[in-house]
Amino acid sequence: MTVDVEARASEIEAAYRLADGCYLLGSLERGVTVYNQQVRAHNLAWALWERRKSYPIKNIAVVGGGIGGLTMAACLLSLFEPTTKVTIFEKLWDLSPIQQGADGRWLHPRIYDWPYFGSRAPGASLPVLNWSEGRASDVARTILNEFGQFCDGFAADGDRISVYLGLRNFTLNVGDKTIDYVGTRSKRTGAFFDLDQPEGGTSTFDCIVLASGFGLESGADEFPVSSYWRNDQLAQPALNGAHHRYLISGFGDGALVDLCRLTVERYRQDTILYELFGDDLEPVEEVFRNDISKIGDDANLYELLTGYDQNRLVRAKQEISNRVRKDTSVVLHISGRDGKIARFSEIFGQRSSVLNRLMTFLLYRCGAFSLSFEEPSEFAPKNGISRDHVLCRYGADTVQHLRDMIADHTDLETRLTEMKDSRKQVTRRLWQPGAFPNPRSKID
Ligand SMILES: Cc1cc2nc3c(=O)[nH]c(=O)nc-3n(C[C@H](O)[C@H](O)[C@H](O)COP(=O)(O)OP(=O)(O)OC[C@H]3O[C@@H](n4cnc5c(N)ncnc54)[C@H](O)[C@@H]3O)c2cc1C
Repeated sequence: MTVDVEARASEIEAAYRLADGCYLLGSLERGVTVYNQQVRAHNLAWALWERRKSYPIKNIAVVGGGIGGLTMAACLLSLFEPTTKVTIFEKLWDLSPIQQGADGRWLHPRIYDWPYFGSRAPGASLPVLNWSEGRASDVARTILNEFGQFCDGFAADGDRISVYLGLRNFTLNVGDKTIDYVGTRSKRTGAFFDLDQPEGGTSTFDCIVLASGFGLESGADEFPVSSYWRNDQLAQPALNGAHHRYLISGFGDGALVDLCRLTVERYRQDTILYELFGDDLEPVEEVFRNDISKIGDDANLYELLTGYDQNRLVRAKQEISNRVRKDTSVVLHISGRDGKIARFSEIFGQRSSVLNRLMTFLLYRCGAFSLSFEEPSEFAPKNGISRDHVLCRYGADTVQHLRDMIADHTDLETRLTEMKDSRKQVTRRLWQPGAFPNPRSKID
């Protein structure tokens, strides 16, 4: 990325541009975490602001009121002049709806970057909508409180920010930057947005940011599964003392986190590395980092992990062995939706974080789960696994999710494919340090 500020802003703008004046926030990228989406929002907002003299923006729509969309909106409010208006369109009935109430999921800003420097730090250290690791529900609460602060600091008067919730109709026409909607306008009271009047209309914006995320996970027709962020009891020992069998299908981060929760006693994403490696953690990280940098971030890690098996991983294997759950037995189905995976070693590519691949390797070596290549619909009944214990974690069909909301999507297919293949929305901090003003200085 170039050092020259203007050129850097132009490069960022180009990486996010779906069409003239219409931008896509991270949906087709890899490394889809809350923190990464927030960094992308900072980068894009800063780039739009930096280019404001050549491309002035007075009226911006942010589609999606998840953490990515809220960060985008707060960044825009803080950077642009008070005359620039921001409208958020959120399909559901509240902001940050996905993580709200998710008490059973731990959110850490950068643990999925492990073993890189700073990845274990508990704080996001972001200038806008900052947070620290915690239960997803607590993180959502922090984000919403912070968003309230940004509204107080930068949009206290008049109608600088409008929020529509509970959309019954939403169609975006990218060509003329027009949105048709029926939703409920909301009124802000501190960090809360209370419902006001239902309203429908057609609005044209000079800039639209699509922060509609990745879409809901698709699962499998025969085995509907709740979203990853819904509360469940998988990590809790059964109160009747019974032994339960589970089948997890998939090998992305969602599936592998459930594998850890179902196989490791008292599994916690925030403490597991310290428990596995103790005082060896820093030297082990150093070795991982150096070795991964030689083979590249996208490489399959199976051989590397096998090479560590008798040395670097001995302590960790012992620790895991002592903590394998006694009340569950778990099978991991890994042939993939298209049935192409034939060997365990093939799932160690970049479909999941290094930490989750390491956990999967260790658990396998400790015999904490077994493998299946047979379709879940055949395997589960044969092995006495009840339907509600089959967890198909297949991620979301993001391109279809985007097509569903964009009326003129056929004109954008080439660009969507290009964005998916090129993945240029990096998660490095590219904004100028100090660019984002602090809302508290405005309030005081
Ligand atoms: C299975 C799974 C596991 C994950 N695990 C982790 C993890 O451990 N750690 C982590 O940091 N991240 C994780 N993520 C990613 C995380 O969910 C997102 O990065 C995070 O929610 C912020 O992204 P976002 O705001 O861009 O998108 P979302 O949170 O998806 O928000 C998008 C918003 O847009 C709204 N929307 C959708 N369509 C429309 C429309 N047509 N009109 C208006 N609004 C619309 C949605 O209702 C939603 O509120 C995981 C994701 C999945 C799917």
